[in-house]
Amino acid sequence: MANGKYWNEKIETIPVPELRKHQLRKLKEQVKHCYENSTFYHKKFNDAGLKPEDIKTLEDIQKIPFTVKNDLRDNYPFGMVTVDPADIVEIHASSGTTGNPIIGAYTQSDVNAWQELMARSIYTTGGRKEDVIHIAYGYGLFTGGIGFHYGAQKIEAAIVPISGGMTQRQIKLMQDLGATVLCCTPSFAVYLAEIMIKTGVNPKKDLKLRIGLFGAEPWSDKIRERIEADLGIEAFDVYGLTELCGPGVSIECNQHKGLHIWEDHFIIETINPETGEVLSPGEEGELVFTTLTKTAIPMLRFRTRDISVINTETCACGRTHARMMRIRGRSDDMLIIRGVNVFPSQVELAVMSFPELAAQYQIVVDRPGALDTFAVKVELTEQACKNRKLDLNVLKRDIQGRIHSITGLSAEIEIVKCGELPRSEGKAKRVLDLRKGKM
Ligand code: ADP
Ligand code: ZN
Repeated sequence: MANGKYWNEKIETIPVPELRKHQLRKLKEQVKHCYENSTFYHKKFNDAGLKPEDIKTLEDIQKIPFTVKNDLRDNYPFGMVTVDPADIVEIHASSGTTGNPIIGAYTQSDVNAWQELMARSIYTTGGRKEDVIHIAYGYGLFTGGIGFHYGAQKIEAAIVPISGGMTQRQIKLMQDLGATVLCCTPSFAVYLAEIMIKTGVNPKKDLKLRIGLFGAEPWSDKIRERIEADLGIEAFDVYGLTELCGPGVSIECNQHKGLHIWEDHFIIETINPETGEVLSPGEEGELVFTTLTKTAIPMLRFRTRDISVINTETCACGRTHARMMRIRGRSDDMLIIRGVNVFPSQVELAVMSFPELAAQYQIVVDRPGALDTFAVKVELTEQACKNRKLDLNVLKRDIQGRIHSITGLSAEIEIVKCGELPRSEGKAKRVLDLRKGKM
């Protein structure tokens, strides 16, 4: 199937009108399947006075009520399954970053589709049969490890299924087994690079790494620059979530101008998270996905809470599937500090613009009295720690100014020595909101 730069050229470069025709046909099938096989969707449709036949065009999708994370939690574990339980072949669960776990169940056809999407995604970034793919996403209930495993297996690369943790051992095995592709969270990549440098391993000389596939948490272009420079690789953003399949929903191509959403499997919309109003491409909002091929737990208009912008312009890589820009954050990660909306990614943008600072930071919000306090802890790089000429008061003032110009808020800055902030081997925890329970 693979041909030069495409894993599946016919689908990846399908003319847009044909893609829309395919989507409409699949949408009608998916809606009918949900109406007939799910008490949850049947009731939702009845309550909205909607019948499957009312979906005649792609725009008609807007008549369908949204599905939200709590629907999955309320129907835990199998209330939203629409197939014979005997047809379930695999079960995953979300890491529970924001509450109780959410179950992802798969039929064999769902696993096959996931594997195809992951193969396509890895191939898009340049991963090939000749590669040694080091998978440091967690294996287990989390979809990260197994999702990458499925894709790497399909392109017939050599897989090192190391999973997360054991940082020193990871570095040794990357050297000894000749890893060329690294898959993990961006925060773990930063950590790996840091430990390598600290233990005298030169990633550019002692490793054969060429590319990295990083996702599962928000990260910025500044972090990308750091990872690329430290590890000597080309870094790609990869996005997905348990509710849709896991990783493999969208992938960055070599143009690095957004992530192609595999639209033959998903319909994408953006909405205003407060009003639910559907937005146009180019307008920032919450991503809403409808699955077109999922059979075990199909999702109709699933609200992700992830904030991004859709770009439907043609991409120079030749793929016709729409792109989503880097995720700015989750709507539920958004902090309201003294009435001002702040995303951790804005703080990251400010912090990462200082070469003296390491790629670690922590936001601490509290309310000791009537007013919110907003503090940002940052860490010096090893080099900056050694620089006796560095004036920390000036640096502090500059960081404060940068954060203020981006968020409109003045933050208290605490500069700590290198290695003092907590590291993460999975998804990073950047925010400590101590106001909870005090409001
Ligand atoms: P949890 O919600 O418990 O973290 P998942 O493992 O399903 O469970 O994580 C999916 C979520 O992770 C997405 O909804 C999104 O918020 C985040 N995520 C995944 N990939 C990326 C990415 N490339 N950039 C930013 N955020 C991402
Ligand atoms: Zn592209």
